[in-house]
Amino acid sequence: MSTLRFHAVKKSLSSKPIIVEEKERRSDLFGKNVFNENTMRQYLTKDAFIGVMNAVQYGKKIDRTIADQVSSSMKDWALSKGVTHYTHWFQPLTGTTAEKHDAFFETIGNGMSIEKFGGSQLVQQEPDASSFPSGGIRNTFEARGYTAWDPTSPAFIYGTTLCIPTIFVAYTGEALDYKTPLLRALHAVDDAATAICKYFDKNVKKVTSSLGWEQEYFLIDKTLAASRPDITLTGRTLLGHSAAKGQQLDDHYFGSIPTRALSFMRELETECMLLGIPVKTRHNEVAPNQFELAPIFEEANLAVDHNSLLMDIMGKVASRHNFKVLFHEKPFAGINGSGKHNNWSLTTDTGVNLLAPGKTPMSNLQFLTFFINTIKAVNTHEALLRATIASASNDHRLGANEAPPAIISVFIGEQLTKVLEELEGVTKGKLSPEEKTELKLNVVGKIPDVLLDNTDRNRTSPFAFTGNKFEFRAVGSKANCGDPMTVLNTIVAKQLKDFKVEVDKLIDEKGLKKDEAVFNVLREYIKSSKRILFEGNGYGEAWEKEAEKRGLSNNKTTPEALKAKISKDSISLFEEMQVMSKIETEARYEIEVEAYIMHIQIEGRVLGDIARNHIVPTAVKYQNTLIENVKGLKEIFDKKFKEVSKEQINLIEDISSHIEGINANVTKMINERKKANAINDADKKAHAYCFNVKPLFEDIRYHCDKLELLVDDEVWPLTKYRELLFTR
Ligand code: ADP
Ligand code: MG
Repeated sequence: MSTLRFHAVKKSLSSKPIIVEEKERRSDLFGKNVFNENTMRQYLTKDAFIGVMNAVQYGKKIDRTIADQVSSSMKDWALSKGVTHYTHWFQPLTGTTAEKHDAFFETIGNGMSIEKFGGSQLVQQEPDASSFPSGGIRNTFEARGYTAWDPTSPAFIYGTTLCIPTIFVAYTGEALDYKTPLLRALHAVDDAATAICKYFDKNVKKVTSSLGWEQEYFLIDKTLAASRPDITLTGRTLLGHSAAKGQQLDDHYFGSIPTRALSFMRELETECMLLGIPVKTRHNEVAPNQFELAPIFEEANLAVDHNSLLMDIMGKVASRHNFKVLFHEKPFAGINGSGKHNNWSLTTDTGVNLLAPGKTPMSNLQFLTFFINTIKAVNTHEALLRATIASASNDHRLGANEAPPAIISVFIGEQLTKVLEELEGVTKGKLSPEEKTELKLNVVGKIPDVLLDNTDRNRTSPFAFTGNKFEFRAVGSKANCGDPMTVLNTIVAKQLKDFKVEVDKLIDEKGLKKDEAVFNVLREYIKSSKRILFEGNGYGEAWEKEAEKRGLSNNKTTPEALKAKISKDSISLFEEMQVMSKIETEARYEIEVEAYIMHIQIEGRVLGDIARNHIVPTAVKYQNTLIENVKGLKEIFDKKFKEVSKEQINLIEDISSHIEGINANVTKMINERKKANAINDADKKAHAYCFNVKPLFEDIRYHCDKLELLVDDEVWPLTKYRELLFTR
């Protein structure tokens, strides 16, 4: 009997839900462990409070005396809550979060000690950065990088540690994290969008970008997950035959949440409340043991921080409930994978959602301006947007007939399609009073202010307008939303900036009225962005053909997709919008290519090990049992022997051929890996891993999965899909 597997199954079956009691209302818990505006009002002096709020709202610098006051108050607040340590909390390009704890405790001589946290410790730290990816920006001999306080994301307490959200940059100033370029992009979109808003409302002073992510994940019993080396080391199953029952019956989606999972969710949500993460929605997803969690949307920088924090906390809370959370985009073959929809919009400081149709023709023209500019931005930069969601793990999902394809397109729904068609017919240049009235009353004026019900039907679109926001659906479940959000906000900022130049030109040079100029430019944008609009089935083959005709990119693998990040256009885009320098852009590309290679390399090693050291020996053992059986039959039956042992002999042969299939392909894979490893050029190496190494995974898996069906269940060493997916 395979001891580990059966031990794990037995243990998982005895796991009981942990009772979680919620004694306080969630609204009372919300933000209790956050140094938010409310807490700051209590703890900070008036000057310090104003200083921080100015930094948050207008990006003003915080001077040294203010920083000293803030740090001292933060410390008092934290100590009152039993905190012992502080850390700068940041998001290096590894994709996870990083922290290094220091105690407040300090000695002051003569055997005495105090708790201390000064302004300088709040504002800046120098973690040894040499082991974080830098893409060659920071040579290891000058390993210094520093973290710097981001006052726009409030400090929080987790466990007994005060966490201060920070950016992470090299000593020479280049960004080494996700947050720094995101903050720059948010600044760029604020500037560009505010300038456009002034066409419609002079009172607008600031535009913020908002993000509401929807996080999908799998919950697997911890012991069962630990019994699988592939899940432990790669976050997904590299082999395993499908269970007889998968998601065919559609009986999991929105079904009643299993008790153990619900206990986990309740504890998780309580933690989220304390940390000010406004989680709201929870439900079963399509695949067995797959779930989703979504918050109320927030300012994009904070939302990205909250998503990163959440993923970290989920792992910890899950462990207490004897679960392992899988964030991998495709942990199991044959059933749905996980994504992270990024709902995005822009909102003014006067409270207007710029992507929501308004109640008057003028507010609708403003809506159309932002709506059409976003479409145009996506059209211009579709390949770059695709590149932001590229990863070894998301490759399994994009274009695999269950998730958005690797082709970026925009879905806008029937009503808005009609509006765009009408706008396309607007006369060039000055408009007659009749045409203006007609436009205002019957085109722009007719957009209903609630579009939600009419837009959200097509679930196959990677970038869909859903009534009052765009939903970027192709983001990977494991990804940090920072990168897609940086790029989306940057391309929209650039587009709005160009739009303003064009409109102003028509006003200044052609003497057009403001609304005439806006109509004129939008008309041209609609014409030139048509190829990106697609309302049909994004999963179909027909769309692939059609998209190719339209000249849209369809990069199915990460090495191909990533190239768009360092195209001339992308580099100058990031430079012009002051989001990333050429060095930063190229460094990130290098890091991602390297990460891709590493992921495939690790998977290859794990798969080779499991196939050769777990599967083959098991198959041989079972084959020996069959051989013994055949020998025995021969002894007993003599002449009838051939007839009665026919099936066993076939089975013995089948097993041999699969063993051979495994060994031959593993050898091939190892050789391809060796060849790939000998390549110095990172691009070519990634290409070799993608097209020479990775395809062999399927061949190896095929033979292993066949053996799983042939070999006695009693001796099969790997925990099976039905056990992983149906143990609740
Ligand atoms: P679903 O896509 O599952 O049907 P919804 O579209 O209703 O769900 O909302 C999903 C997410 O969109 C939520 O996290 C919500 O907070 C977010 N959201 C709603 N309005 C906005 C907005 N204006 N900007 C950004 N996110 C938003
Ligand atoms: Mg959604």
